Formats: sequence, structure tokens, C-alpha cells
Amino acid sequence: MMHVNPSSFDCSEVKRFLYEYVERELDANILIALDTHVISCPDCQKLTDSYREAKETPREHLKQPVVIPRDVKFEIVESLSQTGQ
Ligand SMILES: [Zn+2]
Repeated sequence: MMHVNPSSFDCSEVKRFLYEYVERELDANILIALDTHVISCPDCQKLTDSYREAKETPREHLKQPVVIPRDVKFEIVESLSQTGQ
């Protein structure tokens, strides 16, 4: 699947595999190699922490359904047509 050398992982690999790394969807040896780098790299710790936070933050504003007031619109059209008669 991937042609990478885990022993040479650095920040660019963490960024490249950020999603898969946080989701633990990589081969075990790659996860271990990334873990090893992240543990020793404050920048990548911040990166993975902020990714996890963003993922786990409830998106309250997206829970509000967008209501299209179609009934209201029909009522207005109906009342207008009645007025016109
Ligand atoms: Zn790093």
C-alpha cells in the first residue's frame, strides 16, 4: 500500500498521514514509527492534538436543521391569489 521507510519519518510524514494516523488506519509498524516521532516532536503533538479536538468538538451549529418554509410560502401564494380574485 505505501512505499515509506518508517525509520525516516519526520514532520512531513505525520502531516501526510495525519488522518490515518489519528484514526489508527495504518500498518502497525507505520503507526509505531509515527508514534515515535510524535512523542519526541512538540509540533506534531500539537498537530495531532488539534486534529483530535477538532474531530471531537460537537458541531452544535450544524445540528440546526435548515427549514425551508414551504408551507408559509404556499399560504402567501394562496392568499395573494385569493386577493386577486
Ligand atoms: Zn514532527
